[in-house]
Amino acid sequence: MKKSNGITRRQLFTTIGGAGAAGIIGAALGGSAEAAPPAGKSDESLPQVPRRVLGKTGQKIPILLFGGSMSLDPRFDPKLAEALRFGVNYVDAADCYAGGTCETSVGAFHTRAKLRSEMWITSKSDAHDTKGFQATFETSLKKLQTNYIDMYFLHMLRDPDYLNADLAKVVERLKKEGKIRHFGFSCHHGNVAELLEKAASLSWVDSVMFRYNFRQYGNKELNKAMDAAHKAKVGLIAMKTQGSEASFRDQWKKFEQTGKWNKYQAVLKAVWADERITAAVSHMDTLEKLRENVAAALDKSKLTQTEMEALDSYAAATRAYTCDGCDHICGARMDAPVQIGDTMRFLMYHDVYGEADKAKTLFRSLPQAAQKLAGLDFTPARAACPNGVDLVAHMKRASELFEV
Ligand code: SF4
Repeated sequence: MKKSNGITRRQLFTTIGGAGAAGIIGAALGGSAEAAPPAGKSDESLPQVPRRVLGKTGQKIPILLFGGSMSLDPRFDPKLAEALRFGVNYVDAADCYAGGTCETSVGAFHTRAKLRSEMWITSKSDAHDTKGFQATFETSLKKLQTNYIDMYFLHMLRDPDYLNADLAKVVERLKKEGKIRHFGFSCHHGNVAELLEKAASLSWVDSVMFRYNFRQYGNKELNKAMDAAHKAKVGLIAMKTQGSEASFRDQWKKFEQTGKWNKYQAVLKAVWADERITAAVSHMDTLEKLRENVAAALDKSKLTQTEMEALDSYAAATRAYTCDGCDHICGARMDAPVQIGDTMRFLMYHDVYGEADKAKTLFRSLPQAAQKLAGLDFTPARAACPNGVDLVAHMKRASELFEV
């Protein structure tokens, strides 16, 4: 068994699976937990996930971040507690995650565990105009039960014009008041490169979280923008690292294992190999996924040539099943106001994450006109897609799964 920071992967798994969750929950809820450290604290007897500096913030954060886009236990979430023991003390929340319950659960967790000062909390506003941003921020503070947020993002930014002088003034004031320590935005639509270039030109943007995965290594425009942002010390955080495919599960099931690591671990290691990236946020909705990702983060070895080649083959073989969210390309070929990139993302939530209810709810929160897929001819959009995504088949399936 491969050694990682002094312990074997098997020992690591045993440690997490044994005294871990049960003991921590017991301690937090007032029960007995003889072997467990104080609830949710980092445990120095365990190896700690490596940390890197996040751009101009100057702060070191773990390379593995806890993604909060899932249902967390509203009293005290054991996955969060377990993550913290291994130094994964950065939680990525948002006003809208888990139907708006994510911030409340994170607030309950740190309050109960008395760990606010040991955690880095990032949250986000879906409102991008300055008025909406400030109102959402105040709500976030209340739900998170805190008087400051380590990083506050504009969530899923698409229009660079929101990064304007008015917003800069609000951000500067909130920083001065000590209510936010750092500011940035997340983005995953087709104009990620444009937004990274913009971030590089703005001194008050500290970090960007963006769609980045092993499928994009050859993307020159994106790489140029990442270089510019990195040079300007904008902290770069990768999300959607799995580069997951929508639909046709059989296509990706074949590629679960790439050498020593399973697919999920291998793609994280591939992202961490890029020194411009400080960290990757990961959707770890089970203790098993958490322990696998922690093991991958602790292991200092690089992917082997064989593993890289397996990943490349996997990327090539599944290219036509992945959507990059660039729906300005395919959407322009449709007469109807459909939102292809978002709809493909919801299909991915449904198929890959197994989040059928969330996918349906998100689709049904699109504008009414964007929810009408049945009867539309997606042939022109399919012809325009640079990835060769079979939009005729995918949109038919989305219609069957999601339309009322
Ligand atoms: S279907 Fe193709 S063109 Fe449309 S958003 Fe996805 S990758 Fe881009």
